[in-house]
Parts: sequence; C-alpha cells; structure tokens
Amino acid sequence: MGKIKQLSYHEAQKIAAGEVIERPVNIIKELLENALDAGATQINLYVEDGGKKSIRIIDNGCGMDNDDAILCFNRHATSKLSTVEELESIETFGFRGEALASIAAVSTITLITTQINTHEGIKVVVSANTIVSQDIVAAPPGTDINISNLFDTLPARKKFLKKTETEWRAIQLLFNAFCFDYPHIHFSLFSENKLVHNCPPAKNILMRAQQLWDNTIGHHLIELTTNQQKHFSFEGIISNHQQYRYDRNHIYFFVNKRWVKNTHLTNALLKGYTNVIPNGRYPSAVITITVDPDHVDINIHPRKEEVKFLYPRAIETELQNAVKVALEKNLSQQMQTPVEFSPSKTSFFAQNFPQKSDFTPFNFDAFFNNHITTQPFEQNNIIPDPAIHINQTSQAAEFNTTQIQEAIPLQQNTIIATTPEQEQYTIIGQYKKTYIIIEKEEGLFLVDQHAAHERILYELFSKRFEDIATVQLLFPHTISMTQHEIDLITQHLAIFHQNGIIIEQSGPHQLVIQSLPVHLQNTQLEDLIKSTIALIDEYQHLDSALFTKIMNEKFRAQMACKAAIKAGDVLTNESMQQLLTDLSKTDNRFSCPHGRPTGWLFTLDEIERKFRRKT
Ligand code: ADP
Ligand code: MG
Repeated sequence: MGKIKQLSYHEAQKIAAGEVIERPVNIIKELLENALDAGATQINLYVEDGGKKSIRIIDNGCGMDNDDAILCFNRHATSKLSTVEELESIETFGFRGEALASIAAVSTITLITTQINTHEGIKVVVSANTIVSQDIVAAPPGTDINISNLFDTLPARKKFLKKTETEWRAIQLLFNAFCFDYPHIHFSLFSENKLVHNCPPAKNILMRAQQLWDNTIGHHLIELTTNQQKHFSFEGIISNHQQYRYDRNHIYFFVNKRWVKNTHLTNALLKGYTNVIPNGRYPSAVITITVDPDHVDINIHPRKEEVKFLYPRAIETELQNAVKVALEKNLSQQMQTPVEFSPSKTSFFAQNFPQKSDFTPFNFDAFFNNHITTQPFEQNNIIPDPAIHINQTSQAAEFNTTQIQEAIPLQQNTIIATTPEQEQYTIIGQYKKTYIIIEKEEGLFLVDQHAAHERILYELFSKRFEDIATVQLLFPHTISMTQHEIDLITQHLAIFHQNGIIIEQSGPHQLVIQSLPVHLQNTQLEDLIKSTIALIDEYQHLDSALFTKIMNEKFRAQMACKAAIKAGDVLTNESMQQLLTDLSKTDNRFSCPHGRPTGWLFTLDEIERKFRRKT
C-alpha cells in the first residue's frame, strides 16, 4: 500500500498559493527536495540548454511503488502530511503536495522509480497532466525523473525564459546552495552531459567550498561564530581580506536549513567588511542561521526563498559585528604567523657565506671586511633630523651601503618610544625604505609604511571630512580634459568640494584647482581627478544616495593613497614614530583601505627556532 493520501479540498485551500513554476531552476529545486525527502545519499542533476531543453534528476532514495508513481502527479497528493496543523512541525521540505502536479501541467515528465528490495520498477510518462504511458521496467532502486518540453503548452511563458547562460547561472547557484546545505550528500552536476561538479560527501562546509569553488580557497576562509544569543545563533565561513570577487555569487545564507535570499543579511555581511576589502568587491560567505521558529516566518514567499525575522536588527547587528571581529582576529593572527625563510629568500647569506660544516663558527670579521664597501654617505637621501644628528657618527655614515642596510640593524638610529597603551617598543630602522623595523617584547615587527599611512589618512578623511584643513593654492593648478570628462565632473563637483578640493571650470576643456586638503599638496592631482572621473562614469547609474556613499569612500581611499608616504620615501625617526603612534590610534589599523596588511610580527620564539637556539 502506498504512502500517499489525498488532501481534502478544505485542507488544500488553507495552504497558501499554488506552486509557481516560472523557470527551470524552480523545477530543479522541487525535485532536489523530493530526492532528499526520499532519503537519497547520492543525487545527480543533468541539465541541457540551461534546463530549458531538459532536466533530469537521478537519486538513490526510497523510490515509489506503482500506485504512488501515478498518484504523485495528482494535485495535493503528498506522503508528507495529512492536515495543515502538521505544517507547523513538519521537517521535510515539500508539504503542499503539488510540485509534481504543477510541473506535469507545464511539461512532459518521464518518471522511472523503483523501491529498495524490489526487482522491478515502473516507468510513467505524463504530458500536460495526462498519463501517456505506464510500463513495468527493470531499474536500480531510487527515482529517475526527466522533464522535457517545458512550457510547450504555455508559449507566452516559454517566450519569457531567460537566456541559457542566465538560467544556467541560476541553476549553479541553486546547486551550490544544496551542496552547502547538505554536506553529507554526494551531489553531481552535469551540463550538456559533461560533468561540471562532483561533490562527494564533505566533512564540513569548508571542504565543500574547496570542492565547489577552488582548491586553494581554504587558505582564505575563516570561521564565523556568534556569541551565544537567546533566540538565534549562526555559524559559517567567510573569506578573509585577501580574497574577494566582483559579484555576489559566493554569498549564501541558510535560515533553519533553508537557503534564503535576504538583502538585509547580505548588507550586514558587507558592512562587516567595510574598509577591509575594496568597495564594489564582494566576499565569499556561507552562513547558516538557526532561529527560534517562533521568531521567523518562512511562509512569506510561495517558494520559501525569503524569510521574515521577528527581530531582524538584532541578527543583522550581531552578524556585522561577528564578521568584523573574525576578520580582525584573522589579520592579527596572520601578522603573528611565522614567516618561513625559504632557501631562495636566504640567498643573500647563501651567496655570501661559503657553505661550511655546522661546527665551523661563523667569522663575522671576515664577512664585514669582505662586504663592507666604503661608499660615501649619500647626504641627499637623508632628511636632516636634528634629533638623531648627534648619534650619527661618521663611521655609521660610511656603513650606509645597501648590503649593510639589509644585514645589520641600524643601532645608531635606535629610539625608545611608547604607544598610547604604554606598550614599549624600539624603532630599529627602515628596511628598503619601505618597512619600519620595530623591536617589541614579543619579537620583531615590520610595518609597511605606505599601507600604514594610507589607513591613517583614510580614517582621518572619513571621520573629519567636514573640517579638513585646506590650503589655497598660490598657483592654481590647471587640468585639461575631454568633453566627456568635463560633462561628468561638472555634474558632480560636490564630491570634490565635500572632501576639501575646490575645483572650477576655467575654459571649455579646462578645470582649475583652487584649494586642497593640506595632505594633498605635492601629490599627483591630475591623476587623482581623472581616476575619480572614471569612477563617476562607472557608478553614475546607481541611485543617488548609494552613489554618494560609494564615491565618497572611493575618493577618500584614493586621496589617502595619493597623499600617503610611498615605499622608497626615507623617513626620519620622528616621522616613523609619529606614524606608529597615529596607527595605534586608528580604527581598522590592521589593513590598508585596499585590504593589504599594515604589519607583520616575527615572533622571538620563531627567530630563536630559526637560529636553533630553541627546538
Ligand atoms: P510533496 O513533496 O510536497 O509531497 P510533490 O508533488 O513534490 O509533493 O511530491 C509528491 C509525492 O511524490 C511526495 O510526497 C513523495 O511521496 C513522492 N515523491 C516525489 N519525488 C520522489 C522521489 N524522488 N523519491 C520518492 N518519492 C517521491
Ligand atoms: Mg516536493
């Protein structure tokens, strides 16, 4: 005897609007859910022409007996409940008992299904809701369902099907979502009979991401967890600051096991990444949210793709915070990750020291005699600095060769300083005119001077843009541009004005810069203005509030980049100290506005290991 019961008309009416089949991906979702409900552990999905030509799903689930294989196409035929009250507690997906009926109404279905421990199954062909044929066949246990001639009976709807690529993209997103939601199921996806994804059971979501996205993505994914909350919790994986995309296709949310699309959740996630990845770039994230069922309504959308939370703000705020905390933790951990000195990196030593047995003491005298060249001190490179003048012996000056700068700490430049937290550190010097070397209790700390300064200025520009100190240019700076550039910039002069740059049109193809924020003096103004015009061009189609927000962020990041000290700039001790003090007081100080880290710690422990003082 089959498991299917017919819902009464009354019960059926109580159930919300009928199944809406608009496009292939809707069908696939229903069929995948049915396969999972049937207890399948392996599910293969085949599509042709983005599902428009055919969709086929083969599962190894419980199958149906001969009666059910016919009955399942009746409207409101379901094995999954018999009264609407059961809706509240039902755990399986489908409960309306009308997916197969709806699909049968708009296509041709070929169903082959066999129950476990039976030797024969049944093949049923249904077209436009009419049974065309039914035959007993030999088939492996499980269900094989094939959909073709989609919307042949509804030419209007068929005409509105999207391009194959669009449908195919939607199918891939759905497939990914099922894979993430059910890591223990073996899913495979075929398009035009070619295998696109093979995802055997995975231990966790991280392993799934490696199967679906990229083998190496594991290095860039970090765990996300919530503080214990009363009515909800979430967990998942998110990409770190080093990994971002141009689209949102790697962002997935699941609420109580259902894949949902919720722009508020996405926005909260993106807010967590503010200033960590560039604007207009998107992270990868797979986040599963568990909410007290009384605090969420899943029935606001006929296909249950959306949810409504009772207290959405609490979840959004917690999500945004959790993302921020996870990213900061990851960055500070990365900075403390010991750096491996590979043989190629130590080539300076390898080249300069003949290979000796481990027991021969290293002869420093010989090394210095051979390698110190006595080039004259390059006065021009050093900015006069009264504070260190006394310490700069002529001997130190003579040692100023590149090789020595690489090998020996500039002890004569050492100063002791404290950050506002009273953390003691010593600035040892500048390496390659790019990195500041700092000695701290825990080890050696390297700061990228450009990244650090960029972050400091960005935060400064963002916080105090209303009262940025500006200077009137004595000789106003003139820039020539094309008609298109003039058209774009003259509509948006406010962006510049708001950020302290006063520009006016001075001729048909000419602009003149009258005044500037102090930090921008001596920078490549033309470059800044022209790249901002390119941004205006790119984002002008956005609604005005979003446009202003994005433009301000981007413009400030560019100003920070242009005004920041560069790699190659020689810094005085005072300016190094100022930079470090400013950095320690800055928000988001672990990365620059483009997401690069501002510093790295080489722990004492690691250094001692490298020199085999410790094992
Ligand atoms: P619902 O899933 O809401 O019950 P459907 O129209 O999707 O409604 O399916 C009707 C019934 O057909 C299901 O209740 C189930 O008993 C049976 N069925 C559908 N697909 C499968 C499958 N892949 N394996 C076994 N049984 C299935
Ligand atoms: Mg169903």
